[in-house]
Amino acid sequence: LIEKLKDPSLVTDKAPIGADWVAASDSSASFDVTNPATGEVIATLPNMGRAETARAIDAAYTAQKAWAAKTGKERAGILRKLYDLMVANADDLATILTMEMGKPWAEARGEILYGASYVEWFGEEAKRVYGDTIPGHQPDKRIIVIKQPVGVVAAITPWNFPNAMLARKLAPALAAGCAMVSKPAAETPLSALALAVLAERAGLPAGLYNIILSTDSASVGQEMCANDKVRKLTFTGSTNVGKILMRQGADQILKLGLELGGNAPFIVFDDADLDAAVEGAIVSKYRNNGQTCVCANRLYVQAGVYEAFAEKLAAKVATIKVGDGFEAGVNAGPLISDKALAKVEDHISDALAKGASVALGGKRDARGGLFFEPTVLTGVTPDMKVAREETFGPVAPLFRFETEEEVIAMANNTEFGLASYFYAKDLSKVFRVAEALEYGMVGVNTGLISTEVAPFGGIKQSGQGREGSKYGIEDYLEVKYLCLSV
Ligand code: ADP
Repeated sequence: LIEKLKDPSLVTDKAPIGADWVAASDSSASFDVTNPATGEVIATLPNMGRAETARAIDAAYTAQKAWAAKTGKERAGILRKLYDLMVANADDLATILTMEMGKPWAEARGEILYGASYVEWFGEEAKRVYGDTIPGHQPDKRIIVIKQPVGVVAAITPWNFPNAMLARKLAPALAAGCAMVSKPAAETPLSALALAVLAERAGLPAGLYNIILSTDSASVGQEMCANDKVRKLTFTGSTNVGKILMRQGADQILKLGLELGGNAPFIVFDDADLDAAVEGAIVSKYRNNGQTCVCANRLYVQAGVYEAFAEKLAAKVATIKVGDGFEAGVNAGPLISDKALAKVEDHISDALAKGASVALGGKRDARGGLFFEPTVLTGVTPDMKVAREETFGPVAPLFRFETEEEVIAMANNTEFGLASYFYAKDLSKVFRVAEALEYGMVGVNTGLISTEVAPFGGIKQSGQGREGSKYGIEDYLEVKYLCLSV
C-alpha cells in the first residue's frame, strides 16, 4: 500500500486518543485489515475495547470545552484547511480507500471529494448558527433563543463509504463545537485514520477527533451509550444495530442520529424517457457494486415498457467491467465479504426458485474471490426475498406493474423509508407520486441524489435525523432559551 502513495505518512497503524497516537504494540491485542480484491493483509492495528473508549470520551470531554469557546470563524478556518488537504491528497486517500474497501479507484476518488464537500459545507455553516429573538409574552419579558453544541458525540460508521460516512458526521460535529469519538468499521479503518492525520495537519486540536479501532463493536457501542459524558450518538449502518443502540441509549435518553437500512424502489412509468431511466438505474443500482443504502433494491416497471426496459438495461449492465479497483476501466469491484456474497446468492436462488428468470449474470464472477457478475432478474414478484430485504449487491430485480395506485402500494409496503426513485414525464403524476412515496428522499428522473447541500436521511425504520444541508448542523446543536425580565 505504502508504495502506491505519494505521501506514505497518510497510512498509519496508530489511532488518536486525546494527544496520544496509540499503536498495536501498546495494546495486548491486534487485528488485520485485508484488501477484499486480493485477500492480502494490508495493515495490523490495535484492537481496542471499552477502556480505550472511556479514555477517548474523557479526552473529548475536556477538549470540547475550549473548542466550543472558539468563534465559528475560527472553527471554520480549520475545517477549510482540512477540506483543502483532502482535495490536495485525494489521489492518496482514494488509493487507501480502494485498498481496504475494493471500490474502483475513480469511484473512491469521487467519494473523497464527496466527503470533502461536507467538510467545506459545514465549515461555512459554522459561521451561521443563528438563534432567534421572540416577542415576550409579558410586557417586561424578552426572549432570546441560542444554540449550543451538544458536547461529546460518538460516531459509529460502516465500511461501504469509509470516508464520506464519517466526514458527514465529523464535519457538522466540529463545526457546531462538538468533539468526536469515532469507531470506523473494522473492515475499513485506514480511511478514518488518514483523515485524522490530515485533521492534525489542518490544526485541529488534540482530543477533538478520537478514533477507536475495534473488532468488538458491541463493547465499544455499550460504552458509548452508557457513558454519561456522551451526549449524542450518530450511527450509519444496519437497522438491527440501530435498534440495539437506541435501546442501549434509552437509559440516559441519548440523542440519536440514525442512518439505517433502505429498500429503495425505482419506478419506471410508461411515459418515462427509457434511456434516461436505464442510465439512472445503472447509477442507482450498480454504484459501489450495489453496496449503498440508497441503491435501488426493487425496480418496478410499468407493463407497457417492461420488455423494452429489461432489454435495454441488460444490454447496458453487460458493459460493466468487473475487476480489481486498481485496474483501468473497472467499474465494479469485489463485494466486501463472504457473508455479503452469500446473501446475494441466496436472494438470487430464492427468486429463481419462486419463478424469476436471469436476464444477465446470476453467478460468481469467473475470476473467483469476492467478485460477482452484475445481474438482472426478470419476472420478480412480491413473495421473493429481493422484495423485502436489502440485497446490497449488484442485482437488479424487475417487477412488473399495471397502475400508479398499485405501484405506490407496493413501493410503500416496507418498513424502510430512505431513498426512492421514479421516472415519469406527466407533471401532475410527478407531484402525485413524489408526495405519495413514504421516503425521506425521492429522485425524480434521476438516480443520483446525494449531495452535501441537501438533507440526506430516512423515515420509518430507515432512521432519524438528517445529514448535510442547513438542516444537518441542527442535529449537533441544542436549543436554549433565555427568558429575561427587564
Ligand atoms: P453493515 O451491514 O453495514 O456492516 P452494521 O450495522 O453491522 O452494518 O455495521 C455498521 C457499524 O456498526 C460498523 O462499524 C460495525 O462495527 C458497528 N456495529 C455492529 N454491531 C454493533 C453493536 N452491537 N454495537 C455497536 N456497533 C456495532
